[in-house]
Amino acid sequence: MAEETKHLKTEGISRRSVFGAVALASAAASQANAAPAETKFEPLPSFKYDIENGTGWQGPAGSAKEATVAEFPISQSIAGVSMRLKPGAMRELHWHSLAAEWAYMLEGTCRGTVISPNGQAEIADFGPGDTWYFPRGHGHALQATSPNGCHFLLGFDNGHFSEFGTFSITDWIATAPPSVVARTLGIPVSEVAKFPKKEVYIGPGRMPPAAENLRNAELQPNQFSHKYRLDHQPPKVFPGGLEYIVSSKEFPLQTTLTAARMDLQPGALQELHWHPHADEWHYYVRGRARVGVFGSHGRTKTEEFGPGHVGFIQQGYGHYIEQVGDEPTEILILFNSGEYQAISLANWLGGNPSTLLEDNFSISQNIADQLPKKERGILAKG
Ligand code: MN
Ligand code: MN
Repeated sequence: MAEETKHLKTEGISRRSVFGAVALASAAASQANAAPAETKFEPLPSFKYDIENGTGWQGPAGSAKEATVAEFPISQSIAGVSMRLKPGAMRELHWHSLAAEWAYMLEGTCRGTVISPNGQAEIADFGPGDTWYFPRGHGHALQATSPNGCHFLLGFDNGHFSEFGTFSITDWIATAPPSVVARTLGIPVSEVAKFPKKEVYIGPGRMPPAAENLRNAELQPNQFSHKYRLDHQPPKVFPGGLEYIVSSKEFPLQTTLTAARMDLQPGALQELHWHPHADEWHYYVRGRARVGVFGSHGRTKTEEFGPGHVGFIQQGYGHYIEQVGDEPTEILILFNSGEYQAISLANWLGGNPSTLLEDNFSISQNIADQLPKKERGILAKG
């Protein structure tokens, strides 16, 4: 690697400046206490975090565990939260100034309400396999509607976003001048004084009836739903498993994220590929998998994931997912772009003349002829 570095450094510059560069390089090397050239390239960072094992927030009505850059430094563009609500409990009215919110319902059911800037409102019920997307700043609330409560996975399009720093309605009312709140709400100051004194965040609530109306019956229903039934979409079917991919094409409101669910059969392999313009974030629902990541300078890192783990693959880094164990593996995936893009190694090889591949790999035409010519997706157990 040292030789290659030296070669790259001298490429395309004059002999005279080569001497200067060498002198500078050796000066830098002695300054850095003669660190070997191999350490020049930082090893690939950890790309795994055990979100369900984190401490997070725990209250009588529910809990939230998060993976932001504070817990999971590589995850700059996406933050995740695993949230549980007891029956009737609510995640109070709030909004997010820094991030849009995506969610996938894992267990139980909940009801969501959301207000759009055009004044349109939506009330929607979510069950297992359903997703929501609340664009940045849209005011929303959630309430568990099933007798055993509910569990959902949240994803935010900003790794620096913390669920514990949101704009909550009770925080606002408790801190604004009571006279201003009283005038705004049209109630006496003495009544404003009875409102919560601090943020409710996740609070107990009554189990809502099967159907409820908006207080303002005149409000126009939302023209672009915040709800998308991911599990009800026909998946892409491959020999080794299934993939449901939901971009802004399928779910127009979801402009900053693409969501996917990948089901891998035992022994399956998602082929070598990369995503040109998006980071990839994982949450493991069930089963295990090994993920190998490839970065420049021949650097690789492999980590094994199981239920409750999150993963993060940086934009443009090559990778594969290898199923591990006898039980099928289910992964929820987010990309930080509303448009889905991928390039598979197989497709790339198909897009080249045979002679070039023979020379590049020093292989015979016979072997070159056996190489795949188009995307293979998820391969079955070999
Ligand atoms: Mn929220
Ligand atoms: Mn990928």
